[in-house]
Amino acid sequence: MKSLRPLFLSVLGLLYLSLLTPGASATTRALHPSLPKLPAIRLEGRPLRLTCEHKVNPLGLGSAAPRLSWWMGATHAGARQSAYQILVASSPRQLGGQPDVWDSGKVVSDQSVDVAYAGPALQSAQRLYWQVRTWDEQGRASEWSEQQWWETGLLVPADWTAEWIGAPERDTTVSAPAVYLRSQFTLKNDVRSARLYVTARGLFEMRLNGEKVGRDLFTPGWTDYLKRNQYLVYDLTGQMTRGVNTLGGILGDGWHNGQLLLIGGGKKNWYGQDTSLLAQLVVTYADGSREVVATDASWQVSTDGPIREADLYNGETYDARKELARGGKTWDVPGYDASAWAPARVVAAPPSAPTPKVNLPVRRQETIPVRSVKRGADGGWILDFGQNLSGWVKFRLRGAPGSMVTFQFAEMLNDDGSLHLANLRSAKSMDRYVFRGDGVESWEPRFTSHGFQYVGVTGLSEAPPPGSIEAIVIHGDMTPTGYFETSDASVNQLQSNIWWSQRGNAFDVPTDCPQRDERLGWTGDANFFLPTSTYNYDVAAFIEKWMDDLRDAQGVDGRFTVYAPAPDGVNDAPGYSDGGVICPWIIYQRYGDVRILEDNYAAMKAWVDYQKMTSEGLLRPAIGYGDWLAPQGPGHSATPKDLIATAYFFQVADYFARIAGVLKKPADAKEYRELAAEVSSAFRRKYVGADGLPSVNTPTAYAMTLAFGLLPAESRDKAAQHLVAELRSGQWKAATGFVGTPILMRALEQFKQDEAGYQLLMQRGYPGWLYMIDQGANTIWERWNSWTPETGFGDKIADTGVGDIKMNSFNHTVWGAVGEWMYGVIGGIDTDPAAPGFKKIKIRPRPGGGLTWAKAAHDSPYGRISTHWKHSDDTFSLHVVIPPNTTATVDLPDGKLVEVGAGEHTFSAKLAR
Ligand code: BGC
Repeated sequence: MKSLRPLFLSVLGLLYLSLLTPGASATTRALHPSLPKLPAIRLEGRPLRLTCEHKVNPLGLGSAAPRLSWWMGATHAGARQSAYQILVASSPRQLGGQPDVWDSGKVVSDQSVDVAYAGPALQSAQRLYWQVRTWDEQGRASEWSEQQWWETGLLVPADWTAEWIGAPERDTTVSAPAVYLRSQFTLKNDVRSARLYVTARGLFEMRLNGEKVGRDLFTPGWTDYLKRNQYLVYDLTGQMTRGVNTLGGILGDGWHNGQLLLIGGGKKNWYGQDTSLLAQLVVTYADGSREVVATDASWQVSTDGPIREADLYNGETYDARKELARGGKTWDVPGYDASAWAPARVVAAPPSAPTPKVNLPVRRQETIPVRSVKRGADGGWILDFGQNLSGWVKFRLRGAPGSMVTFQFAEMLNDDGSLHLANLRSAKSMDRYVFRGDGVESWEPRFTSHGFQYVGVTGLSEAPPPGSIEAIVIHGDMTPTGYFETSDASVNQLQSNIWWSQRGNAFDVPTDCPQRDERLGWTGDANFFLPTSTYNYDVAAFIEKWMDDLRDAQGVDGRFTVYAPAPDGVNDAPGYSDGGVICPWIIYQRYGDVRILEDNYAAMKAWVDYQKMTSEGLLRPAIGYGDWLAPQGPGHSATPKDLIATAYFFQVADYFARIAGVLKKPADAKEYRELAAEVSSAFRRKYVGADGLPSVNTPTAYAMTLAFGLLPAESRDKAAQHLVAELRSGQWKAATGFVGTPILMRALEQFKQDEAGYQLLMQRGYPGWLYMIDQGANTIWERWNSWTPETGFGDKIADTGVGDIKMNSFNHTVWGAVGEWMYGVIGGIDTDPAAPGFKKIKIRPRPGGGLTWAKAAHDSPYGRISTHWKHSDDTFSLHVVIPPNTTATVDLPDGKLVEVGAGEHTFSAKLAR
């Protein structure tokens, strides 16, 4: 029996190889869609899902007028809110009685999203409890909602008494060990409450009495640290005792001191020479007196701990033999002998006081077990997690003292079964751990992250025991808001891939990719994908923070950049920089959020003005990336860059005019409406023929002119027909790049070319969405040809005109922009632009593509919208749920239009067969 084992294993290995080697035929591919359901909700008649500034019970708000939102929660059909009342008090008890801070009174209004607090001016570190009740359309009052709260941060610079501290001066031109800082202090009384306000230049992990503070990772996140430092707030009440306590911080390089490999030739220290910490612990004793423990020269520092180096892209090296523990006490607990530590160095503060973190931080989201293990040619082990993801691995392993285990991360395997590392380019993506050798050791990194499905493990004498290594999925902690499933397994897999790529690229900023030496907040990728991402997750705060980054990066001449943050200076490109106007507009459309328009108004205006000033006859030059990564060949990537640039100029001028309208600035609205009209005329003179059709015959040119409204009204239908005919003659193969793809699907939706949309989605040849699925993709690829059986890895970009560097990622969001069409046309859920934020809903599901059923749901600012349709023979039946305080137009496939209000509705339609 024993002698049979190796044979048995190798047969399994072969089977395994045939399943996972790129190139295995479509029929052998097992699909593994992840389609997480939204949690069940129960309406109980009173408001629910209360949020403040798009967050649940936020700690540390900077806004003077926090915006409060709720779902109405009424259970009866047709429910609408006719009035609301908000109470705000300093304690839950006060809220139950006479609110001592603010009573809005009964306000006759249907507004339930972003109602600004209008009570007395807020103080620093103020905890406020609130609740709301509503009146329905018949004037019946609801019960009061549950009580929720928000707490302000440190609102004035003088609140900060802490000093920025770091390590003694050292050489940081090469990667240096992490910095450990500690303070031991005595609390002389019982603690009523404790708050920690903290930020760093670099990344911090705070420790209190031996435990990690909070669940957040990669804090404080990425900003232009020279202009903006975001702090986080932690409630440490209950975690500190009268007597001696120890507060510690570990600092990693992160974006502040790490290499941002793609830019500046691998330069380190973009924002300053070394990492530093600013922390202020405010303790309120039971008797009401206060104690502040703040970073200053009294803190102690060591740079000789176990984290020998930690780089976001290259990985982390941890030597457990160097763990800071003496006499059985670790460095972060009271009583540790820190006599060998140096005094912390007080360093210069940045020019302005820190501001509260706007977006939710990156956190652990999910644990994924190893799916299979095989022997690598180098004698190591190759683990397959069965899913391309972003994060790291955690292990529990034994090793001899001083021996090292290494983890090399990769997204794909080469044909010979080895890890495919070429597409990481210069990112090393390797974690190393040196064993203490005293039993089972457990570890995971802190200051690095990887994009991977496979991990090569070396340094173990035996295969890692089952369960000893697991992958931790890490990303920005946004609330899931979408669900989408159909009768077609491949379409479900596509939805899963889109969802995974969104998760893989929400790393404090919307990144292009999580694995190679790039990982930048590309403004193109982000805006191309944004409409889709708003369906899957609540990204309002995520984008709001990133718009701060865009403004910080904006040139004095008004240019938005191609990525943000952009430490290497200002570069602009059509379709990319335009994200600075497009993203706020989309957030307004999807969430009804007006403040993002206000906050970015001047910046948006400056960008539109820059384009006006630098255009010739309102035409834009042929610059930028064009229709990036459009498949090669006649009629494909041939959309001229200047056409794309001028079309975008029109779109942002047009959006800006509308934004001015929303913000009630009639003079600007008029001026920019006129500008948009003039740009449109200039565009038509150059790019539209006498027949009213675009003079450039590419799907991208047609889609842009149709979707943006650049064609004369009378030729639009003809143009839409022509576009569809061209797509048909191209056998429905994707012929568009980053710019064209989302816009093409939008144009087809707008012009009700649903059959064409289905054809594009469902065709399985190259290039196309299901082609990727058939090659085994479980995330969205960067390129239509990221891998093909004929050419293997499609990583050349010489043909895109930016040089002969190689570029290939298996975790990019942009082709996933088709998700907008999937939710909008298959699921049939969209907002009516006339009443943004899904106040008015468009329900327009269309069967097609051989689907027999589809289900979709979206948690909008007003509540959950869901659709479920079935289609068999000639009968289409639809079940729809519309949330309270909204109305919907249901547009049925037989042409009927029905206006409905809140509640459940069923419809059926007879369709021609
Ligand atoms: C990124 C993109 C981005 C592009 C701009 C690439 O390196 O990964 O997704 O849009 O550069 O050309």
